[in-house]
Amino acid sequence: MTFEELRAHPTLLRALQMRGYEQPTPVQSAVLAPEHAARDLMVSAETGSGKTVAFGLALAPTLLGEKPAFDAPKRPRALVLAPTRELAMQVQRELGWLYHHANMRSVACVGGMGMQLQLKLLHDGVHLVVGTPGRLCDHIERGALSLDALEALVIDEADEMLDMGFRDELERIIAAAPRDRRTLMFSATLPPEIARLARTWLTDPMRITATPPQQQHRDIEYRVHVIAGREREHAVVNVLRASEAQGTIVFCTTREGVTRLAASLSERGFACVAISGELSQPERTRALQALRDGRAKVLVATDVAARGLDLPDVGLVVQADLPNDPQAFQHRSGRTGRAGRKGVSVLLVPAERKRGAERLLFDAHIKAVWSDVPDAAAIRTRDEARLVESLTAGDPPEEEDLALARRVLEKVSPEQLAARLVALERQKLPDPEDLPLTVAAAEAEARYANAPRRYDTRGPSAPRGRFEPRGYGGDRYAPAPSYGGDRFAPPSRDDRGPPRAAPAGDSAWFTLNVGRTQNADPKWIIPALCRRGGITKSDIGAIRVSEHETRFEILGRAAQSFEELAQRPDRQDPRLQIERSAAAPRPGPPSGGYGREPGHFGPPGKRGK
Ligand code: AMP
Repeated sequence: MTFEELRAHPTLLRALQMRGYEQPTPVQSAVLAPEHAARDLMVSAETGSGKTVAFGLALAPTLLGEKPAFDAPKRPRALVLAPTRELAMQVQRELGWLYHHANMRSVACVGGMGMQLQLKLLHDGVHLVVGTPGRLCDHIERGALSLDALEALVIDEADEMLDMGFRDELERIIAAAPRDRRTLMFSATLPPEIARLARTWLTDPMRITATPPQQQHRDIEYRVHVIAGREREHAVVNVLRASEAQGTIVFCTTREGVTRLAASLSERGFACVAISGELSQPERTRALQALRDGRAKVLVATDVAARGLDLPDVGLVVQADLPNDPQAFQHRSGRTGRAGRKGVSVLLVPAERKRGAERLLFDAHIKAVWSDVPDAAAIRTRDEARLVESLTAGDPPEEEDLALARRVLEKVSPEQLAARLVALERQKLPDPEDLPLTVAAAEAEARYANAPRRYDTRGPSAPRGRFEPRGYGGDRYAPAPSYGGDRFAPPSRDDRGPPRAAPAGDSAWFTLNVGRTQNADPKWIIPALCRRGGITKSDIGAIRVSEHETRFEILGRAAQSFEELAQRPDRQDPRLQIERSAAAPRPGPPSGGYGREPGHFGPPGKRGK
C-alpha cells in the first residue's frame, strides 16, 4: 500500500512526495495501521528501517489532528529522546523536512553544544524538542524546559540509552511529563529490562515488530575475505579501491585503530574522515558534514561512534576488525542496504580467526560469500575498463571544448593526448596494494588443511589451538592470543618447531645501505624489512652486518615479492635502500655480533614469542 492508501496526514504526504518516498517501509506501514492510531506503541525496529519517518507519521494525528499545520509555538507538544547528539540532530533534520509544510518549529537540546541558543529557542517557543537525556535534564532542572504541555513522547533507541547508563535521566524526564501523553518506544532489541520499563512508561501498548531480529538483510550482500592480519590495512585499501560505492564506512574496534587507519587512508589519497570518542563535537559535526555533502567518501569509525548514524548512500561497509558479537556484526552491516537500496558488507578475517568468524556468521544467521581480497592486478584491470568508459562514453562534447581540443591537437598527437588524460585520471586513484602474505596464507591454508597441527595437543576431538574461537562470554569472538610480533601471520616457521635452515638455492640475498657505522641492528632492521617488503620475520634468513652495509637473506618464495615491494619508494624512511645482491656473502665468523647463521637471527629472547 502507498502512504496515501494508508491515510498518512496530507501535510506529511506532500513532504514525502517531494522527497520521492513512494513506498512505506514495513515499520511505517505498521504504525499507520488504523488499529495503531492514538495508541502507545512498543516498536522493535533498527536504524535504517525508516523508523524516524515512522514515528513522525505516527505523531501526526496526535499533534496535527485534522489541521494542516501547527498553531504558533509555545511550550513543546512533543519530545523525542535519543541516545547521542548525532542521532538527536539526525532526528531533528528528518522530522524537519517531514513537518516542513506544517510550519513546525523544533530545537535540538544536546550536550557539547552552546546552551544559550537552546535556551533562547525554548524561551521563544517550539512545537518539538529532540534531545539527549543529560542535556534535557539540565534544561528541566533549570526551569528552561517545561513538559506540562507535552502530548507525545518518543523514546528512540531505548536499549542503547539504557546501555549508556541513562536510566536515571530517563526516569526524571518521564516523571516530568503529563501522564496522559502518548508514548512511542523504539528499540532494536527487547531485553527483559526494556520490556519491564515499557510496562511502566507506556499505557496498554501495542507491540510492533517491523524487522525480525537477526534476519539476513535482503538488500545486503555479505562478503568475507580471509587475510594475513598484518596486511589488514592493505586489504582495506583494495576493498575500497575495488568498490564503486559512493559512501563507505570502515569499522575498527578501538579509537587508536580508527585514528591510525584514517590517517593512513588519507595519506594514500582517499577522501576520508574519522569519528571516534576522541573528537570534540565540532570536529564530529564537521566530519559528518563532509560525508553528507560528498567531500568525503570514506568514514572510519568505532561501533559506538557510528551507532544510529544515518548517512546517505552508504553502499559499502568494511569491518576491518572482527566485531565483538553477532549483534555488532548486524549493527555494522545495517549501515548499508537501507530503505530499499543495495549494499555490500565486507568482513576481513585474519587467517587464524577464521573459525571464530564462521561461528559468528552462523550465530548471526548470515550466509556470506567467501572470496579472495581483490588483488592489485584485478583492480588495475578494472580501473582501465572504467577509464576507457569514462573517457569515451557520455554526451557529445561542447563546441567550446572541441575547439580547445583542436588547439591541443596542433601540438601533440591524439595518442599522446589520450595518454596524458589517462595519466591525469590515474593520478586521482590511490594505488592498490600487493598482498603477498595473504596469498601465502591462503596457500598455507590449502597445504595445511588436512595435516594435523603441532598445537593439537588435546587429541582429535579437542579444539584446534589458536583457530578455535574462545568460549562464550563478552569475549567470544575476541582476538586469539598474540603470537608475538607476527600475531596474525600464517603459521610460520617459529610456530612449527625449530627453525629450519634455508634450503640451498631456495633463498635470495639482498643488501641494505646501512652498516655498523650507521647503527645497523637487527632489532630495528628486521621490522623495517618486514614493513618494506611485506614479509614476516620468519621469511628472513641470515643477516650479516658489516662496516657500511648489511646483507640479508630472504627465504623461499617470499624473495620475489620482497624484491618488488622493497623497490618502491618508502615514505617512512626514504634513506633506506634495498637491492638484490648478486651472490651470498662468503661464510665467516659473525661480524660485530650481529651476523647470524641462517634462521638464527633476531633480538635475543624474542624468537617465536
Ligand atoms: P532511519 O531508520 O530513520 O534511520 O531511516 C533510514 C533512512 O531511510 C533515512 O535516510 C530516511 O530518510 C530513509 N527513508 C525513510 N523512509 C523511507 C521510505 N519510505 N522510502 C525511502 N527512504 C526512506
